[in-house]
Amino acid sequence: MNESRNDRFFISPAAALHIRATLVASIKALLAFYQFRSPLGKTEIQLDRNRLLDVGWLLWRLTAPTAAEIESPRGESSKRFRVRMLNSCLRLWILCCIFAAASTVPPGSYAAAPSFACMVRPIASADEVKYSWHDGCPVSFNDLRVVTLTYWGFDNQVHDGSLIVNSDATDAILRAFRTLFDSKFPIDQMKPIDRFQGDDNLSMAADNTAAFNCRQVVGRPGIWSRHSYGRAIDINPLENPYVVGSTVLPPEGKRYADRSLSAQGMIHPGDAAVQAFASVGWKWGGAWISKKDYQHFSADGL
Ligand SMILES: [Zn+2]
Repeated sequence: MNESRNDRFFISPAAALHIRATLVASIKALLAFYQFRSPLGKTEIQLDRNRLLDVGWLLWRLTAPTAAEIESPRGESSKRFRVRMLNSCLRLWILCCIFAAASTVPPGSYAAAPSFACMVRPIASADEVKYSWHDGCPVSFNDLRVVTLTYWGFDNQVHDGSLIVNSDATDAILRAFRTLFDSKFPIDQMKPIDRFQGDDNLSMAADNTAAFNCRQVVGRPGIWSRHSYGRAIDINPLENPYVVGSTVLPPEGKRYADRSLSAQGMIHPGDAAVQAFASVGWKWGGAWISKKDYQHFSADGL
């Protein structure tokens, strides 16, 4: 993770909830006190919507009716003074509540906004790719790189994933995945295919996003797939299956052959995923004519 994280800070949902809850509790306490002690009679204020906007509304409600009370025949000047004092105290109270709420936010609730991070390293040894690489493959494992990067998961959280790609593809992959991260495109999981013993069917069935795998083109024995060069990637293969005729791979993704669906992680023409890869010159298998490989992006379109 050697990329710089930016300095943007934001209030996390937990902190916002805390501040809101504290303010609402403070206002309710104030109301209870005010209704008990008010010389102007009970107010009709309700906080059933529990929104901070009620603060502004509360101020207005408390000040507007009291203006009429000034016309009371009992000592106008002292009444006016009391109303002004009451309003000043009320504003001071609310300011104190806001300060108290903000200063008692639990530690860790203010968090750095998630930003894309990545790291590139060589393959440690042939053991690291013992299932996906073997003698006779079109590239040496020394030409491969392990790319570790952050991505948005299906659970709407940021995760670390690993891809193995050709050293000449790392730049394109990183730029594309930075764009995907910024657009929060969801990815189910991302592990090197060796975690699945190099078995593409197992990886696809697990909805695993992977790149390098030294294997032949499906249905074309003797022809190296672009994955064999580390210049292709399959993204969310379950939601984006390979479809030719009535064959759907993985079979578990059969329902997603219906591309009118808009399920999480699906890739559609012109969407964030297609644009991210198009911006680095990679082409999408979902645009092929005779067959459709909706999960597949490659450097040369094959
Ligand atoms: Zn592919």
